Amino acid sequence: MLNNDINNPEIIVDSLRAQGYRITKAREDIVRILCNVKHYTVEELVNELKAIKKDVNVATVYNNINFLVHEGIVNEYNFNNKNSVYELNIGLHAHLVCIDCNDIINIDIPTFKSIKDNVEKNTGFKILNAKLDMYGYCPSCLKNKSNNE
Ligand SMILES: [Zn+2]
Ligand SMILES: [Zn+2]
Repeated sequence: MLNNDINNPEIIVDSLRAQGYRITKAREDIVRILCNVKHYTVEELVNELKAIKKDVNVATVYNNINFLVHEGIVNEYNFNNKNSVYELNIGLHAHLVCIDCNDIINIDIPTFKSIKDNVEKNTGFKILNAKLDMYGYCPSCLKNKSNNE
């Protein structure tokens, strides 16, 4: 689990290597950005990489992010039928998605976790990701709406 060291990209990268994952320099760069714990599109990742003066090729970023998803290091999500977004696998959590400003908020729901644990126990399935997304208006969009009515 990456949870505890999320603020320390160094530790995350070292521990992935120690676990035997092939973390090339290009993959390391992506993991470091994802340590900001936001939900990034590939386009946003490319922009972040460019901002730190990395030589980026969009196809390579796609390949590397797909590798990280396949290994369970990164999770892929789709919200509001928009492009996929990627987040470091920080453990099972649900998402609140605002349909106005597209804000995505991570939320811990213990019941959601226990459902996953039960399913793993009963089926022997190793679950890398499960999705529980709730759509609606965030408090500030809700406030704007009621002001305009
Ligand atoms: Zn909003
Ligand atoms: Zn999330």
